[in-house]
Amino acid sequence: MMHLPLVVSEPNRFLTAVRAATGGAGLVAAGVTTLQVNVGKRCNQACKHCHVDAGPARTEEMPAPVAEACLAVLGRWGIKTLDITGGAPELNPHFRRLVTGARALGATVMVRHNLTVQDSPGQHDLPAFFAANEVTLFSSLPHYTAEATDRQRGQGTFDASVRAMRALNEVGYGRGHPTRGLTLVHNPVGAFLPGGQAQLERDFRRVLEGAHGVQFDRLVSLANMPIERFKSWLAKTGQLESYCDKLEAQFNPATLPGLMCRSTLSVSHTGALFDCDFNQMLDLGVLEGPRSIEALLAEGPGALVQRSIATASHCFGCTAGAGSSCGGALT
Ligand code: SF4
Ligand code: SF4
Repeated sequence: MMHLPLVVSEPNRFLTAVRAATGGAGLVAAGVTTLQVNVGKRCNQACKHCHVDAGPARTEEMPAPVAEACLAVLGRWGIKTLDITGGAPELNPHFRRLVTGARALGATVMVRHNLTVQDSPGQHDLPAFFAANEVTLFSSLPHYTAEATDRQRGQGTFDASVRAMRALNEVGYGRGHPTRGLTLVHNPVGAFLPGGQAQLERDFRRVLEGAHGVQFDRLVSLANMPIERFKSWLAKTGQLESYCDKLEAQFNPATLPGLMCRSTLSVSHTGALFDCDFNQMLDLGVLEGPRSIEALLAEGPGALVQRSIATASHCFGCTAGAGSSCGGALT
């Protein structure tokens, strides 16, 4: 099947598939329980699969007024969870203020922590900071072998990740503690969908605990999204069309109720609002309600709560097979 993937003006085959599965309803939000804040594109790594195109040379970062507006929205509109992502979000100078500010408001805080950022200047105390603020961690580790992880993330990444996990274990992460959760995030090292999540978790646990003596609480598996750097890699290796076709062919309607866009609102470093981080990278803004964090603060969520979600063919990456969301497989 020939098609140009991810061009928004193309007939929206994802929406057609969703409408067929939902009796015409389409994809509609069910509320806003999580504010996901992307604080910028700077990262200590430059992974091959990165959907943000993040790296050490990127300079975009959320300034203090936008970070403060995010906190004010949490407080004023009673959003329960702050999910902080990047880049490596810890490298934003306002990262710790976001964490402590949200905790002071009683919100739960999740951080997309890439582990190796602990080796960056001034970041060695991150495990203690996370523990003190009861931050839940989602940490990507593509594979339990050094060879596969380093191939995707760069030489030495696996060993640095294991060292970082050890530091987290020492302050209680990965050991079943109720407020020190460490979830590993696996994504395939290539143009295929992730394997069964339960078996992968067993394999990761066997090798990481058995051979390296480090622990984690659970593992989730995510499909690689065919956007940004991973899309370029697919195109360069002649696999873009076949990968997109594979995602589309495995569309699973049972994944729709749990899609993160139904309960999450995503904020860019400039304060613009999106349905999810992937849409943010494609500059597909929210279709209804306030369009910026400042407008959300002033006006309230309004039409955002039950908004129609902006979709395009990349959305098949969330609904293929067992599904893929920030929380892992959906079915
Ligand atoms: S995938 Fe994560 S760790 Fe890797 S470059 Fe992107 S933001 Fe950084
Ligand atoms: S990419 Fe996934 S989370 Fe984002 S709008 Fe599409 S289905 Fe929803």
